Amino acid sequence: MHKFFSLSLLTLALATTPAWAFDLSINNDLVDAAKDAGKAATLSDDDIIKMGRESANAYDAQNKVAAPSSDYAKRLTKLTQKHLKEDGLNLNFKVYLDDNVNAFALPDGSIRVYAGLMDMMTDQELIAVIGHEIGHVKLQHSKSQFQKAYATSAARKGVASQGGVAGSLAKSQLADLADQVLKAQFSQSDELGSDDYSIKFMKKHGYDPKALVSSFKKLATLGDVDSITSTHPAPSKRAKRIEETL
Ligand SMILES: [Zn+2]
Repeated sequence: MHKFFSLSLLTLALATTPAWAFDLSINNDLVDAAKDAGKAATLSDDDIIKMGRESANAYDAQNKVAAPSSDYAKRLTKLTQKHLKEDGLNLNFKVYLDDNVNAFALPDGSIRVYAGLMDMMTDQELIAVIGHEIGHVKLQHSKSQFQKAYATSAARKGVASQGGVAGSLAKSQLADLADQVLKAQFSQSDELGSDDYSIKFMKKHGYDPKALVSSFKKLATLGDVDSITSTHPAPSKRAKRIEETL
């Protein structure tokens, strides 16, 4: 869910639990999380990175990861190989062989790109979207979404009962954290912050920053269902805003 909602979600959950505000299935978890918010806050940065990596591995195992020899993986590797250590981050990239037009980033720097997005974008547009995802890692948006997912997750209860942090979670619980980050809606200001980060990233590496605009224009042609557009602000508005700054 997007930040316009999510900032006040815990309060809402406790106060009125309006069904329209969020998925009913996570209602109870949210209430639990609100009662127990302190526990999630105690996760250290190291815990989050470790759990983020384990969560990426578990989610990879649930998805069809493109083999290194595939055209998709080769294309992504070519585009990203010089960004494995970007801006002080350790990044890793994989393609999911899935028609979904999507990409997401976990707090450890695992960035996953869906084949559907790659099919739609030119190399420059793809690297612009990847720059946006790197922005979510660098600006710690992925971290706070992960923390939020952890706070609302059954995984937290398992950890609490076992007294550990990462390592004590089942693979399905770890994969579920990644899935929640993928489906999370970041706040409008986080999104715009990551858009700005992508523009800086594009300029820094000599890419064409206008590719971010054209990627948004392509995304604007999609419906709002099951794609990056369902978790992000209207791409046409983002395109217009970026165009005005270039
Ligand atoms: Zn985003």
